[in-house]
Amino acid sequence: MDIKNSKALFSNAQNFIPGGVNSPVRAFKAVGGDPLFIKRAEGAYLYDEDDNRYIELINSWGPMILGHNHPEIKEAVIKAVEMGTSFGTPTAKEVDIAEIITKMVPSVEKVRMVNSGTEATMSAIRLARGYTGRDKFIKFSGNYHGHGDSFLIAAGSGAITMGEPNSPGVTTGTAKDTLLAPYNDLVAVKELVDANKDEIAAIILEPVPGNMGLVLPEEGFLEGLRKLCDEEGIVLIFDEVMTGFRLAQGGAQEVFGVTPDLTTMGKIIGGGMPVGAYGGKKEIMDYVSPVGPVYQAGTLSGNPVAMAAGMAMLNYLYKHPEIYDGLEKTGGKLVAGVRATLQKMGLDYSTTHLGSMYSLFFTSEKVTDFETAMSSDTALFGKYFQAMLKRGVYLPPSQFESLFLSTALTEEHIAQIIDANEGALKEIL
Ligand SMILES: *Cc1c(COP(=O)(O)O)cnc(C)c1O
Repeated sequence: MDIKNSKALFSNAQNFIPGGVNSPVRAFKAVGGDPLFIKRAEGAYLYDEDDNRYIELINSWGPMILGHNHPEIKEAVIKAVEMGTSFGTPTAKEVDIAEIITKMVPSVEKVRMVNSGTEATMSAIRLARGYTGRDKFIKFSGNYHGHGDSFLIAAGSGAITMGEPNSPGVTTGTAKDTLLAPYNDLVAVKELVDANKDEIAAIILEPVPGNMGLVLPEEGFLEGLRKLCDEEGIVLIFDEVMTGFRLAQGGAQEVFGVTPDLTTMGKIIGGGMPVGAYGGKKEIMDYVSPVGPVYQAGTLSGNPVAMAAGMAMLNYLYKHPEIYDGLEKTGGKLVAGVRATLQKMGLDYSTTHLGSMYSLFFTSEKVTDFETAMSSDTALFGKYFQAMLKRGVYLPPSQFESLFLSTALTEEHIAQIIDANEGALKEIL
């Protein structure tokens, strides 16, 4: 595989951009080698600057659930651009997207658009604090909520991948208000709540974590958090930036039947453009400025081009609920194929799967939280990543990221991925 153009670009990029990348996990630091510079994407494929083609399972880290360059989204964006790219005024498109979000995610009665998942979670926490008049909140180890200061405590995703789950630059004053619990451990959460009686504004979590690899909530965990929040007047925030519109139209809250007070969204909601949103109960959302006292704003929030892309995406998902069954079947086939290979080779690695999300952990432990995820052999994952890439399959360059499937994957692609997996495992072991 010739990647000389990517190599030259990366070498030059490092002169002008820290680490040559605008987001750390893109750098391949965890898996070795130079990152690929991608020139274009279509359907299930990425094409790099040397014209190599890859079947890919990152999908821009989540957004591209319909595969790349979907014709309806492309057309909506082009049409929007022709009307002007930004006005800084209310637009009809913002009303349309807010309305469809509330239809697809019924717990969201009112919604505010922002520009990223990070902005959504930062704003939701501020709102929960303003609404309750309390300062502290609980988050879970290995859950990632973007790079806001108060979330960079035992953070997942790139933060674990880079070995920096706690970032310098976050003041001790900020960090002291973030309380940490192990995921799936309701007892630990109750102890924290008891020890900080009437001081906790919110519990925020990924209802299905995908940022330490894919981990599933154990039975009763989400329900238990709901009950605890009701009893203690705590705002329950589901961070569905990754799972929203991916696991179902209504996200993980629809799949598990547990209703949060606030939901944060991102990724798919923008159809590939930079969009985030937070929403929930009217009573809480009406604490946001200009109706309420909690300030939150954005020059480009609700940008017409971004809204056109998001609206085209959500409209498509709303009109085609059957895609979720299709994705579950695709995921099921892939995982069954991978598991069959593991069995044939006498390997006891852990897999997790839900709908279009999937992880293969290089550990024999069942992965249920941060600690068990961290038992994975990351050096072996690095070799696996390279061996898959060589076979034309582009995985997220970290053990601690979920894989994402798109509707662009055919049976043939799945068969190719299963073959590549077997070849890669045979090569590295
Ligand atoms: C990606 C992600 C974020 C951050 O979103 P950005 O758009 O990258 O700022 C927050 N929470 C979760 C669960 C995510 O997966």
